[in-house]
Amino acid sequence: MEYYSKTITKLIAELGHLPGIGQKSAQRLAFHIIHMPEEQVRELSTVLLEARTSARFCRECFTLTDSDVCPICASDKRDHRTIMVVENTRDLVAYERTGQYNGVYHVLQGAISPMLGVGPGDIRLKELMVRLQGDVDEVIIATNSTLEGEATAMYISKLLRDTGIRVTRIASGVPVGGDLEYIDEVTLLKALENRKEL
Ligand code: ZN
Repeated sequence: MEYYSKTITKLIAELGHLPGIGQKSAQRLAFHIIHMPEEQVRELSTVLLEARTSARFCRECFTLTDSDVCPICASDKRDHRTIMVVENTRDLVAYERTGQYNGVYHVLQGAISPMLGVGPGDIRLKELMVRLQGDVDEVIIATNSTLEGEATAMYISKLLRDTGIRVTRIASGVPVGGDLEYIDEVTLLKALENRKEL
């Protein structure tokens, strides 16, 4: 039996497809939206659509952005000879929030996971190797301290062994199994400062 009108039921169902949103939260959100001023709902739907249609990967670092090259890669104030390798854009944002890292990034869009069938060819590793043919002094591997993150770090360090590029790994002050985005800025900075050679 349907308790709500068709459109409300549909709205609840769509919201319920979002990660972390259960049935109850979906209902609460749906009713919140229905009671919002119409203009605000229009604005929200426009922003949703705009964000989706303009989203693309930066040509250089593969972070999510809305231009051909992201603001970090486009900036001449950043040190383009230091590349921090992260798993996703949220991790990049976590490091940007510290305000202390002045290099650029490379966003892998995932991590190697034999369990999930994600191999080196499924993440942006090839693209990293292409970038490293330019002038690069250091690659800082800042993948998560999960099994997948460690496997990816190991794989990259092996790939770079004979390139003469300095390869470092952020310190394990970052708790094992911890997602970078949930770690506070001080801990992130410590992990960066105490990075070790691989
Ligand atoms: Zn970029």
